[in-house]
Amino acid sequence: MSDNKYDVIVIGSGPGGYVAAIRAAQLGLKTACVEKWANEAGKTVNGGTCLNVGCIPSKALLDSSHRYHDAHDGFEKHGISTGKLKIDVPAMLERKDKVVAQMAGGVSGLFKANKVTSISGKGKLLAGKKVEVTDTKGQATVYEADNVILASGSVPVNIPVAPVDPEDNDIIVDSTGALEFSSVPKTLGIIGAGVIGLELGSVWSRLGSEVVCLEAMDDFLAMMDQQIAKESGKIFKKQGLDVRLSCRVTGTKIKGKKVEVTYVDKEGNEQNQTFDKLIVSVGRRPYTEGLLAQDSGVNMDERGFVFVDENCSTNVPGVWAVGDIVRGPMLAHKASEEGVIVAERIAGQKAMMNYDVIPNVIYTYPEVASVGQTEEQLKSAGEEYKVGTFPFLAVGRAVAADSQDGMVKIISHAKTDRILGCHIVGPSASDLVQQVAIAMEFGSTAEDIGMIVFGHPTFSEAVKEAALAANGHAIHMPNRKRR
Ligand code: FAD
Ligand code: NAD
Repeated sequence: MSDNKYDVIVIGSGPGGYVAAIRAAQLGLKTACVEKWANEAGKTVNGGTCLNVGCIPSKALLDSSHRYHDAHDGFEKHGISTGKLKIDVPAMLERKDKVVAQMAGGVSGLFKANKVTSISGKGKLLAGKKVEVTDTKGQATVYEADNVILASGSVPVNIPVAPVDPEDNDIIVDSTGALEFSSVPKTLGIIGAGVIGLELGSVWSRLGSEVVCLEAMDDFLAMMDQQIAKESGKIFKKQGLDVRLSCRVTGTKIKGKKVEVTYVDKEGNEQNQTFDKLIVSVGRRPYTEGLLAQDSGVNMDERGFVFVDENCSTNVPGVWAVGDIVRGPMLAHKASEEGVIVAERIAGQKAMMNYDVIPNVIYTYPEVASVGQTEEQLKSAGEEYKVGTFPFLAVGRAVAADSQDGMVKIISHAKTDRILGCHIVGPSASDLVQQVAIAMEFGSTAEDIGMIVFGHPTFSEAVKEAALAANGHAIHMPNRKRR
């Protein structure tokens, strides 16, 4: 095989692409991964959005800000005094950058260990499964592959009423800019109370910002189970997040170092509010600029996603696409799993992915997590179901940890009792929901979970009790409530 010929070329080294490349190489395929992201020194930056400006840096800041907030508001009742607290934002950012460097460096290490060739530059799919890679100097090289995996990810949606200046990214910012504020903004506006708005809003609110989220929808977290969304909304309100629903932003004006936002509120009245910073977090869109040559033959769908079947195969045999550029939730673990499936299919295996059981987590405190169907989805599908809920305030471990806000909700089929969904707001919700995801993959009923011995005292006892509640016999249900 010539130096420029591969079994598999992956374009993009985010969690979709790098995992696909590693798995393909593990399966004995000669694999290369093309990445256009480079640091100031010109060195390739692997890991994509997730590791560099997404999941990992946001979680690093969420962790730092949670510690600060806990020390500020939570320590006293434990009898701990700290003296005057202060936050050193540059030090917090430096720690975040170190975490990112460690994780992104880890991907490069994994590439070496698994013999994945890392190619720097922007990749473009040409006809005939050829990939043209243009480096930072404009030099183009053409490679050939039996299989090409497109994994170019996504970028934030920009709205004309609040344009983010990509060069400046300082006053009106996207999620990347919001990870880099050099000091705590006194006032912070956020357009869009979705995942990013809530996570990054929480970071800066915990450090002292007055945060206002302007959300277009009438319902808070409209895609989530509404009982859990409402419970979460109450908790966030108590924490000081000011979420204003049914708001339509009509304009923004930079005034010196501030930004004035004009919006029409729920009652139809025009409002103005000035903020030190404004985060625009209204969703992300697939990034396919320059990815496909005109004659590549790959079809896109009407929303700009690369069109794929249930196994991530595009309409061109041997060309696959995974992650944020294809349909489905824009989540790192979904991207990675698709990467594995595709690599295994290329190697001749019959791997498949279950899109019905993909956990989804908002890493606020407490976390909000879900898997499977919501009550609203089941209702509109005309499914018969039962619901069991259990509050953390009746869980010993949660009370001991002063984390009793929230609940677990388990939905099972009315007749078969098979678990259809689980929705949680509460401590360690991200890990608890995974327990139910495992159960769902094994086709468990709520009764099955109810019969499992759970350690005591653990947060996960709320999962067992919610499962028992679905069949009407939770043991520790306060007020003899059965739902
Ligand atoms: P990406 O991670 O976007 O990677 C695509 C890569 O392809 C990039 O490195 C890009 O430079 C490269 N590329 C693009 N075009 C080309 C080309 N033509 N040639 C070469 N290289 C190219 N998800 C979670 O599951 N959990 C979280 O907690 C979470 N937190 C997030 C927080 C924030 C602030 C953001 C913005 C996102 C978060 N996400 C989270 C979403 C997650 O980051 C994405 O779903 C995930 O990164 C998608 O992976 P991907 O591989 O499809 O694409
Ligand atoms: P999102 O879809 O979660 O939320 C966007 C919000 O903005 C929605 O509530 C929407 O109704 C609202 N909106 C849209 N247009 C608006 C407008 N003009 N004015 C006011 N509100 C408007 O998107 P996001 O928060 O930008 O995050 C993007 C994606 O990144 C997510 O969908 C998710 O897939 C991924 N992500 C995941 C995590 C995680 O898993 N913890 C964290 C961050 C991001």
